[in-house]
Amino acid sequence: MRVRFAPSPTGFLHIGNARTAIINYIIAKKHNAEYLLRVEDTDMERSSKESEESIIADLKWLGIEWTEGPDIDKGHGPYRQSERFEIYQKYTDKLLAEKKAYHCYCSQEELDAQRAESEAKGIPFTYKRTCLNLSEEKKKQYEAEGRKPTVRFKVNDGEKIEIDDGIKGKVVFESDNIGGDFIIVRSDGVPIYNYIVVIDDLLMEISHVIRGEDHLPNTPKQVMIARALDMPTPKYAHLPLVLGPDKKKLSKRHGITSVDLYKQEGYLPEALMNYIAVLGWSSETGEEILPLEEIIRQIDIDRLGKSSAVFDFVKLRWMNAAYIRNYDLKKITSLFKPFIEKAGYDLSKFSEDYIETIISSIRGNCELLSDIAKLFPIFADDIPSADEEASAMIASAEGKTALTAAKELIDSGEINQDNFTEITNMIKAKTGLKGKNLFMPVRAMLTSVLHGPDLAEMLKLIGFEKIKMRISSAYEKNCV
Ligand code: GLU
Repeated sequence: MRVRFAPSPTGFLHIGNARTAIINYIIAKKHNAEYLLRVEDTDMERSSKESEESIIADLKWLGIEWTEGPDIDKGHGPYRQSERFEIYQKYTDKLLAEKKAYHCYCSQEELDAQRAESEAKGIPFTYKRTCLNLSEEKKKQYEAEGRKPTVRFKVNDGEKIEIDDGIKGKVVFESDNIGGDFIIVRSDGVPIYNYIVVIDDLLMEISHVIRGEDHLPNTPKQVMIARALDMPTPKYAHLPLVLGPDKKKLSKRHGITSVDLYKQEGYLPEALMNYIAVLGWSSETGEEILPLEEIIRQIDIDRLGKSSAVFDFVKLRWMNAAYIRNYDLKKITSLFKPFIEKAGYDLSKFSEDYIETIISSIRGNCELLSDIAKLFPIFADDIPSADEEASAMIASAEGKTALTAAKELIDSGEINQDNFTEITNMIKAKTGLKGKNLFMPVRAMLTSVLHGPDLAEMLKLIGFEKIKMRISSAYEKNCV
C-alpha cells in the first residue's frame, strides 16, 4: 500500500488539509504502508517556497512523518510538480499524437461568449469543441495572430465513470455532464492539476488516494485521463468535509483554521492531532482522548464516517487542557517556557525547580499554553495588575472588609512568615465573612485574578514578602 499527501503550497496548512495529512499518516502506519509527500506547486502565481516550508514545518510539528518526499528521495522523484514538467510533456505528446487531446486556440473572450450563451439558455456550460478539428492552415493563422494554444483533453461522449469510493461507496458520473473537453495544459505551457495528478499518482505508484471530498468532482476527469493513458487508477476514498459549528464549510469566520495559529496559541500537537484524528467517527468505547497507537489500531478507511464532521472549537480546547494536565511535567514545562518568555519574563531569573513547581500547580488551569501569560505574573510579579473582575471584587464592600482585616493582621504581626498560608481562615475569624464573600476577595487581593488553583498552594510559591506588598498596595488603592 502506498498513500500520499499532496499539498499545494499556496498558504498555510489548514485544518481540512491537515486532516487529510493525518488520516493518510494513520492509515499508512496501520498498514505499514509508504507515505509519500508531494508538493503540488504548479500554480505559479499562488505557490511559494515560504508556504512549502511552513506546511512542512507544521506537518513535522504535528508529528507526521513521511517515508518519501522532497527530502527523502526513494526513486520516485522529483517530488515537486514544478520539477516534473518534462515528464508531463511526454504524456501530453502521446495524448496529442493519439488524438485524445488537441490544441485549442479559443481566446478568453470567445470562451466567455460560449459560457454566456449557455447561461442565457439556462443550461450548464459545455465547451463547444470549436477547435477539435482545426485545419493546419487555421492553426497557422491563429499562431500568426500570436495566439498560444491550450491543450484540451477530448472527453468521450456518453461514458459512465463509476468510482468505488472507499468512504462514499459507489459514485457514478456521466462524461456528458462535466463541462466538455477540459484544459490539461494552459497556454503558457503549465499543466493543470487534474491532469498531472494522474501521472504522478501512477509514476509514484500510489495505491490509495485519500483526500477531501472537495476533490470528488475532479475524480471523473482524473479517471478519464488515466483511461486515455491506459493506466490503472488508484483506489479513492474521499473524506467528508469539516464544517464549522453552523454546519457551513469550516472557514476563518468560525475561528482559527490554520495549524500554525494553533501552534502559536499554545495548543499541543498531540491534542490537535488527536482531535482531528477522531473527527467524524467514534472509537470502540466512545472515548475521544486516545493515544495515537490506539487510534491507529481502531481506525481504517471503512470506519471513517460518511457524513461531514463538525469542528468543535470548545471540545478541542477541552482536549488540549487534558493533554496539558497529563503531560510529563518536565516536557510541559519546556513547552510553557516560550510562552512565559513571550509574556516578558527573563527565565534565567527563576530556578528550574521553581518554574516546574509553578507549572505543576497551575497547569490544571491552563487550556492553552498561552494561558500562562495570565497566571505566571501571580508568582513572578511583586504586585501583578489585577484584571477587571478581580479589581471589582477588591473594591466591593466585602473586598474592603477583607482587605482592612488583612492589613491589620499583617501590621500586628498576627500574620507572619510562619502562618501566612492560613490567611483566609484568619480573615474569616476576624471579619465573619464566609463562603464566596470570603474566598473571592482574598483570592483577588492576593493573586489579582479570581480563578486559579488552590490558594494555599499558590501562597507558598508566592511567598510572604510579596503577599505583604500586595496587601499594602491594594489597601492604599482601595481603602485610604
Ligand atoms: N494539491 C491538492 C490540494 O491541495 C490535492 C490533490 C489531491 O489530493 O489529489 O487540494
